[in-house]
Amino acid sequence: MRRSIIVLFMLVLSLSAGEMRARAAQPAPDWKILEEEAVALLSRYIQVNTTNPPGNEIQAAQFFKEIFDREGIEARIFESAPGRGNIYARLLGDGSKKALVLLNHMDVVPADAKLWKEPPFSGLIKEGVIWGRGALDNKGPAIMELMTFLALKRQNVRLKGDVIFLGTADEEAGGAWGAGYLVEKHPELFKDVGLVLNEGGGIRVGEDGRARVYNVSVAEKTPLWLKLTATGTPGHGSTPSNNLAVNKLVAALARVMSYQSPVRVVEEVQRYYADIAAAEPEPRRSRYRDLRRALRDAAFRAEFLKEPRNNASVRNTIAITGIRGSDKVNVIPATASAELDVRLLPGEDPKVFIEQLRKIIGDPLIKVEVLLSFPAATSPPHPEAMKVIGDFAKANDPGTPVVAPLVRGFTDCHFFREKGIPCLGFMPHRSAPSSEGLVHGVDERVSVESLRFGIRAMVEIVRKLAAD
Ligand SMILES: [Zn+2]
Repeated sequence: MRRSIIVLFMLVLSLSAGEMRARAAQPAPDWKILEEEAVALLSRYIQVNTTNPPGNEIQAAQFFKEIFDREGIEARIFESAPGRGNIYARLLGDGSKKALVLLNHMDVVPADAKLWKEPPFSGLIKEGVIWGRGALDNKGPAIMELMTFLALKRQNVRLKGDVIFLGTADEEAGGAWGAGYLVEKHPELFKDVGLVLNEGGGIRVGEDGRARVYNVSVAEKTPLWLKLTATGTPGHGSTPSNNLAVNKLVAALARVMSYQSPVRVVEEVQRYYADIAAAEPEPRRSRYRDLRRALRDAAFRAEFLKEPRNNASVRNTIAITGIRGSDKVNVIPATASAELDVRLLPGEDPKVFIEQLRKIIGDPLIKVEVLLSFPAATSPPHPEAMKVIGDFAKANDPGTPVVAPLVRGFTDCHFFREKGIPCLGFMPHRSAPSSEGLVHGVDERVSVESLRFGIRAMVEIVRKLAAD
């Protein structure tokens, strides 16, 4: 890791002004330099610990600011709260096209070092792999965007539309101090934006490295995070009364657990399964062609819903993720609480769902608080971007379908979609099923090869969108 930093410095030092100019005149970026820089930068970026909470994204914003300053690119840091930084840099076009935002989030979820094979904030580079929290979500893609941005600037690419690099805080906790803050407090930053490219989709490959599908997401399920609190008579564990907070909470949770939200195939999901059908073996192929009809068959329905991703694509889900009572084994607490991670399908009204949940709980004394909720928003269409991605797929992975899945998680996209700005979930990196469990999991890492492909793909796609 240290060696790679030294290599980076040597690269930077060895580029005289003359060489920089010579490079700027070249038609294509110097891929080798760009890619070596990218590896070293990602390693350093992973070492900036932006675990949320508390986030401390201001350090990440400064990391980017230094790079932009060195490259002569004007960049601004927006501090939404102490320590919570956002970075915004803009390359100017001639204005004949609307602006394009390359969006990424700078915070990461916590990592328990004890469970990892390599320290999660080491940014270790070993055997062609870069290790660390954020390598996939979302620091690797951020470096792909950064290198694209730098390539455009260094090549003096004549842009039609402005290109904006935006790194946000707080995405993993809902985005209130990041994209949410910027969209609300600084709408002027996005006034002429025509498209946002963000995480949420990419190129799914098999373990053999061959592309299976291009996922470009336009819709997400909506989180509804709830806290249930029961109250009762506190006391000594040796003498329980018949008014116990924990008992009431557990009874309520048992009723919540036995509830199954009805199956509903929204338009986006019906279309998605129809689009991937051709690549499936029979009899799944015919079933996926018309999922709504297929689900009327009890045997197919049971098999389909057994798979958690399928299940979450066709119904609202409730996951009980936290339970709290007393800190001491012999103390009966006055209150007991549980946290629920509810995910709603597009078109659902959170208020209606909460009313329904209250009925299921069946105990008016249990308090239901909303921790996070926002309306579902599907992206306005952007045919040009879909075509550019489709053309890229055709040229690089002929015959691979380009589809629009419903994202079961959520990203910063909704803040933009709510304002009517198209936001597509697509980062052109290749990920195999085996790497998907690494996102938010242990041993998160990305191969240098995948980063390389991502940078080249991103430069090509962004050039088409902003300069053609
Ligand atoms: Zn993410």
